[in-house]
Amino acid sequence: MSKSELEIRFSGLSEGKHDFHFDIGDKFFEQLDYSEVKKADLSVDVNFEKRVNMLVLNFDLHGKATIMCDKCTDDFEMEIENQEELIYKFGEGESDDEKIIVIPENEIEIDISQPVYELTILALPSRRVHPEGECNQEMLDAMDNYLMVASDEIEPNLQQSDAGSVDDDDEEDIDPRWEELKKLK
Ligand SMILES: [Zn+2]
Repeated sequence: MSKSELEIRFSGLSEGKHDFHFDIGDKFFEQLDYSEVKKADLSVDVNFEKRVNMLVLNFDLHGKATIMCDKCTDDFEMEIENQEELIYKFGEGESDDEKIIVIPENEIEIDISQPVYELTILALPSRRVHPEGECNQEMLDAMDNYLMVASDEIEPNLQQSDAGSVDDDDEEDIDPRWEELKKLK
């Protein structure tokens, strides 16, 4: 589905309610370079009401989206859903209310690509991780190894400050680790 297929042509519709359904797949997101969603299998049901001077759209988005896991960086699929009401008002100028979009009096159709994209992104949780236990273990192990190497490099400093704090408590007290080292001499 291309971006322009997410259009509702309302010019010939009677006043009142009409239902529309759109399926949104990978292509919709592939054409957006900046999209966090890489693949999707989503449906949008639009309850569309045509009134004399406005269009009232109730969006109901649901389905699956593929995004990157924050923990292991592998892609994973998650269920998402979101609902929103938008009003397209005939007139001039711009609206201060983000839920109201002004369209020209002579308009015959509206493109709902942008609202659908925003509904999808807003449906994503702030912490995006695989369900427990489903992360890429190889990747997590590789990350752990990297962290261990990094902490080895700073360990001598940590030991020095440990010993220093023990000395502060009691000048006579000798760190047992140093005692063990002395015996080796
Ligand atoms: Zn993961």
